[in-house]
Amino acid sequence: QARSESVTDGLPGLSNRRYFDEVYRMRVKEAQDMGTPMCLVVFDIDHFKRFNDTWGHPTGDQVIRFVGAALQGRALPDQLVARYGGEEFVAILPRKHLSAAQEFAEEVRKVVEGKKLLRKSTNESLGRVTVSAGVAELSPGEDGAALLQRADDALYVSKREGRNRVTLAAAAADRRAVA
Ligand code: GH3
Ligand code: MG
Ligand code: MG
Repeated sequence: QARSESVTDGLPGLSNRRYFDEVYRMRVKEAQDMGTPMCLVVFDIDHFKRFNDTWGHPTGDQVIRFVGAALQGRALPDQLVARYGGEEFVAILPRKHLSAAQEFAEEVRKVVEGKKLLRKSTNESLGRVTVSAGVAELSPGEDGAALLQRADDALYVSKREGRNRVTLAAAAADRRAVA
């Protein structure tokens, strides 16, 4: 019970930042050791502040839960989905190449975009919520911090280019040590 509370984020199946860090380190090491692919996807809700300001914090929380559930609903058992920060989420996709991770991110983006949200307390329409995403595949010799940075940079491109989109990071330079 205590263990379960320490790794979740109050949403069924959604992990917190601390647990993400732990699993992420393990998955990056595993992929580097085995030479298997691995991808990281970062999601951020678009114009969330505007939304919060209009409807208030509790309704904002409701939107965060909705996006978290949409993400969790697409994840396979070995894919960890976590709440990384306030309105930011991450997904670790072991043994997936960039194209599969792109598909995953697009599915989540479409599910979120396709839902008309209602405010629980008043049943008012909240309109549509969208998310932007950045996707990166681990490069040979790359560490977790560098992979996260590339995914974040790709997310930033999605924001800059109009939001509600998925951007793929270019591969990093090969950093394997030459024996
Ligand atoms: P962008 O499209 O560029 O992502 O714009 P944004 O408004 O989503 O981004 P910004 O970082 O400006 O604002 C994020 C807001 O999220 C600010 C903060 O008050 C709010 N926030 C962070 N955590 C929570 C939370 O747990 N609940 C609620 N309701 N709001 C939160
Ligand atoms: Mg943000
Ligand atoms: Mg945001």
